[in-house]
Amino acid sequence: MYSNSLIELDRAHLVHPVASYRSHERTGVRVLKSAKGATVTDASGHTMIDGFAGLWCVNAGYGHDSIVEAAARQMHELPYATGYFGLGSEPAIRFAAELAERAPGDLNHVYFTLGGSDAVDSTIRFIRYYYNAQGRPEKDQFISVEQGYHGSSTVGAGLTALPAFHAGFGIPLDWQHKIPSHYSYRNPAGSEPAAIIAASVAALRAKVEELGAERVAAFYVEPIQGSGGVLVPPPGWMRAMRDLCRELDILFVADEVITGFGRTGPLFACTDEDIVPDLMTTAKGLTSGYVPMGAVFLSDRVYDTIADGAGTSAVGHGYTYSAHPVSAAVGLEVLRLYENGLLENGIKAGKRLMAGLQGLGDHPLVGDVRGRGMLAAIELVVDKVRKTPLPAAAEPSRRIFDRAWDNGLVIRAFGNGVLGYAPPLCCTEDEIDAIVERTRMTLDETLEDPDIR
Ligand code: PMP
Repeated sequence: MYSNSLIELDRAHLVHPVASYRSHERTGVRVLKSAKGATVTDASGHTMIDGFAGLWCVNAGYGHDSIVEAAARQMHELPYATGYFGLGSEPAIRFAAELAERAPGDLNHVYFTLGGSDAVDSTIRFIRYYYNAQGRPEKDQFISVEQGYHGSSTVGAGLTALPAFHAGFGIPLDWQHKIPSHYSYRNPAGSEPAAIIAASVAALRAKVEELGAERVAAFYVEPIQGSGGVLVPPPGWMRAMRDLCRELDILFVADEVITGFGRTGPLFACTDEDIVPDLMTTAKGLTSGYVPMGAVFLSDRVYDTIADGAGTSAVGHGYTYSAHPVSAAVGLEVLRLYENGLLENGIKAGKRLMAGLQGLGDHPLVGDVRGRGMLAAIELVVDKVRKTPLPAAAEPSRRIFDRAWDNGLVIRAFGNGVLGYAPPLCCTEDEIDAIVERTRMTLDETLEDPDIR
């Protein structure tokens, strides 16, 4: 087992993200020690396949020497450069240019942040500035989608639609609104794509009418809702929502923090449907989690309006670590790896993963299997016909996570009995097969658990 002192020190001093502090104190930390490729090893020497790429971020897989060397080279040469005072660094400039070249449509302007939450926060600031610059300050209402996740910052967390991120924090704020999710497995409109799309279009139209189109600033979507349980919209959903936003004169923001960088296949999931958003956010796979970084992409129109509106004044938005040269150097190398085989491997591995998980569809606990590329979920139920969720009182997620861990697999077990998969794109066929097999073992054991059935 791990050194007790680490567990004690953790309990006494380290505040964990999104944790029940008292439960965590009781259970104690699990310490990860090392990793290579798609395999992680804990401090007791137990090895597992990381079926969740850390937190859907280590898309390239662990232990790439070339990434480490890119960071080390940059740290030796210039570990820090501010972007203030008109200064910059070569990797940041080159990374912005490489990204803009690959981004959909005219998303030609890149603003680097430290991660996804501040990328989303930055979009809110840019959008407010954009409308103010046009003399339309009343365009200040924001709409997002139930089950959506857009980060954990003070303001952006109000666009997130998961109750745990609101309770006790005094959000959402009164300018933050939601429409129902497309959630195909449990949609009151049924499971037909056309009906789901029509329901979402009607809901957004109604919400905008209720608020007044002249007051609505923007609509936020994730191409696939991640933290809400990997909810995949039917084909055509994003296109319909994008078109409606254009018709209603509302900015369309695609939050690609999870879906970007090969997660669904291409570099950006927007290209799956040939969508060009007005703004786009990314993080996670941007640097494959090796160092923190996020990026906001602005269209020519949004950027030019802000730039012209500001004139000679400074646009007062920036961080000490905006466009950090070490993160940018890592990002450039990660991008090279994606384009030298990783994206391709991810597409092949993703097909195998989806086929494998679909093969679990006849398991008595499996109600739904969904996903695209290397982003997938299975939703567990105790009654397939009624779609009855697992009994929450038995803390099924905790139990399933623990069982999978013991079986050599790290997965995400969402609170509602949904198992999430986002393996590194470097997974071999054998590793994908092991993910599926270890899931089957975990489900079989769960089926035997009298508290769950
Ligand atoms: N947007 C989406 C869609 C996300 O999934 C996340 C993180 N899971 C964020 C924003 C926030 O990113 P971060 O945790 O890097 O702040």
